[in-house]
Amino acid sequence: MDYKSIPKIELHAHLNGSLSNKNILELHQLKYQGSDQGVNADAYKVQKELPDLTQCFAKFKYAHDLTDAPERLGRACENVIRDFQEDNVVYLELRTTPRATEYMSRETYLITVCEAIRKCEKTCPGILVKLIPSIDRSKGVQVAEENVQLTRKIREKYPDLIVGIDLSGNPENTVFRDFRKALQAARDCGLKLALHCAETAGSVSENLEMLEFGMDRMGHGTFMDESLETWKMLLEKRIPVECC
Ligand SMILES: [Zn+2]
Repeated sequence: MDYKSIPKIELHAHLNGSLSNKNILELHQLKYQGSDQGVNADAYKVQKELPDLTQCFAKFKYAHDLTDAPERLGRACENVIRDFQEDNVVYLELRTTPRATEYMSRETYLITVCEAIRKCEKTCPGILVKLIPSIDRSKGVQVAEENVQLTRKIREKYPDLIVGIDLSGNPENTVFRDFRKALQAARDCGLKLALHCAETAGSVSENLEMLEFGMDRMGHGTFMDESLETWKMLLEKRIPVECC
C-alpha cells in the first residue's frame, strides 16, 4: 500500500514537534552558521530507552532554541507545511504555544506563525492549513489567560485561520480546574477546544472532570480509564480522541 499517495488530514501536529531532520539542520545553520553551538542534536533524538514524560518534554528545548526568533520560526513553519504537503496531507491543523523569547513577544510569535501560513497559501496550494494556539499548562494560569486574550486579538486579523485552543504541556504539578476559566473564555468566543487529556497514569479524577467540562477533541487519551462510564461519556458527548 502506498500510504504517501493517500490524501490525509492531520489534526494533531505540534509545530515544534513536527520539525524534520532536514528542517532542524537548516534552522541550526541559520542560527549557528555551521558551528556546533546550541543544544546537541542527539539530545533531541529519542534514544533506545523510552524517556519518561518529563524527559520527553525536555527534548522540545532543542526545537524551541531553534525557533526563538521570527525569521527562523517562520521558516520552520513553512518547512513543516511543505513537508506535510509532500506527504499528501490535504488538511492540516497546526498547534503551537505563543512563546516570548529575547527576540520576540508572544504576540510577534503568533503573528509570525499566521503570516507563514498565509505565505504557504500561495507556495503550497495543495494543503489547507489552520492554527490552534496552545496553552502550556506548565507556564501557569496567568499566562494561559493572557494567551487566550492574545488569541482572541490576533483572530480578529486572521479570522479564517485560528480555529481553536489547545491545552497541552507537561501536566505534572498542575491541576485542570485552574485552567477552566481561561478555557471557558475561549469557548465563549467561539473557539473550539482540543484538550490533551489522560497523558499520564493516575489522573482518573481529573480526566472525568475534563470530560464533564467538555471538549471538541481529546488529545492522546493514553491513560483514559476503560470504565463503561467513561466510554459512554465520550460517546454521548461525541468527543473524538486524537491518537498520536
Ligand atoms: Zn500532543
